Amino acid sequence: MAKEDYYETLGVARNASDGEIKKAFRRLAMKYHPDRNTDNPKAEEQFKKVKEAYDVLSDEKKRSAYDQFGHAGVEASMGGGFGAGAEGFSDIFSDVFGDIFGGGRRGGGRSRVQRGADLRYNLELSLEEAVAGTEVKIRIPTLTPCTECGGNGARKGTSPTTCGTCHGHGVVRIQQGFFAVQQTCPACHGSGQQIRDPCRACYGKGRIQENKTLSVKVPAGVDTGDRIRLSGEGEAGEAGGPSGDLYVQIQVREHAIFTRDGANLHCEVPISFPMACLGGELEVPTLDGKVMLKIPAETQTGKLFRLRGKGVKPVRGGPVGDLLCRVRVEVPVSLTKEQTDLIQQLELSLSGGGSRHSPQAHGWFDGVKKFFDGMKFS
Ligand SMILES: [Zn+2]
Ligand SMILES: [Zn+2]
Repeated sequence: MAKEDYYETLGVARNASDGEIKKAFRRLAMKYHPDRNTDNPKAEEQFKKVKEAYDVLSDEKKRSAYDQFGHAGVEASMGGGFGAGAEGFSDIFSDVFGDIFGGGRRGGGRSRVQRGADLRYNLELSLEEAVAGTEVKIRIPTLTPCTECGGNGARKGTSPTTCGTCHGHGVVRIQQGFFAVQQTCPACHGSGQQIRDPCRACYGKGRIQENKTLSVKVPAGVDTGDRIRLSGEGEAGEAGGPSGDLYVQIQVREHAIFTRDGANLHCEVPISFPMACLGGELEVPTLDGKVMLKIPAETQTGKLFRLRGKGVKPVRGGPVGDLLCRVRVEVPVSLTKEQTDLIQQLELSLSGGGSRHSPQAHGWFDGVKKFFDGMKFS
């Protein structure tokens, strides 16, 4: 089967910059990561393709060999295929994303002992905490290895014995007609060991229910939906089995002033009618202090001002975002008699200028007039 073009796999142009290639790879890697596509077996294949294309195009030498000779050029220089094995996933994932999504995949052979369950903890953060990063202490109810027996489930001073049914293999073979079928040993449930004298503290389970306090380092720039994996901080495995992982799921609370959109922050700034007419300077808040925003004369409502670099530094790298301030002109309320008179004078003066002072309104009314003129009333 002909191999797909690497540039097409990543959906980038042939002259794409390193940054564009990296960006495309990140997007696709997230989309097809097997952890996010547990119900779609094709995603894993796609993920491998994307990784292979990225491995080549992100390497200057391999990329130029590929550009010159195509797939043949790369395979020769690589000495064989890529074969992203199960371990490959967590490797590249920590390369690109750090530990923020967690690898999730564990390679290696099937273990006889049961690994503990993964846990999930929902962590709510303020926008400020999410942007600056923080360290929080969390308390989780979990199963931890029993200290009394060291996790093996046998009473202190004794130790588990080899299972007599499976002779320590954890599996038994049973004959069914012509076939020999391998099954988890019913006597020891696969552990290969039997406990004659169970531990008093954990009743032979090797783990006990406990509240565990953990310190979680939250990197700067996280957003709702990100998760942090704490390897081995999940539930302890049964009978001394390895612990699962703890996934801390981030949820960022709504902020009174800012809304976040990726690396950018948005806020709405009300300005007075005179300031909109005459211009002026305005103090606006940012996440790291106040800055002055210059409002030019004759600013219309809805105008967007961009404060560069006052947004968020994304956790997965990339440029710091901007703060986008949308001004809204506030119509003055609770007017006194004097103010009403002044505005009436202003109105009189403005209408003397014809369409000059409000071109938008005049344009709109002209449109409406044409619309009515075009209609036939019977
Ligand atoms: Zn115990
Ligand atoms: Zn057994």
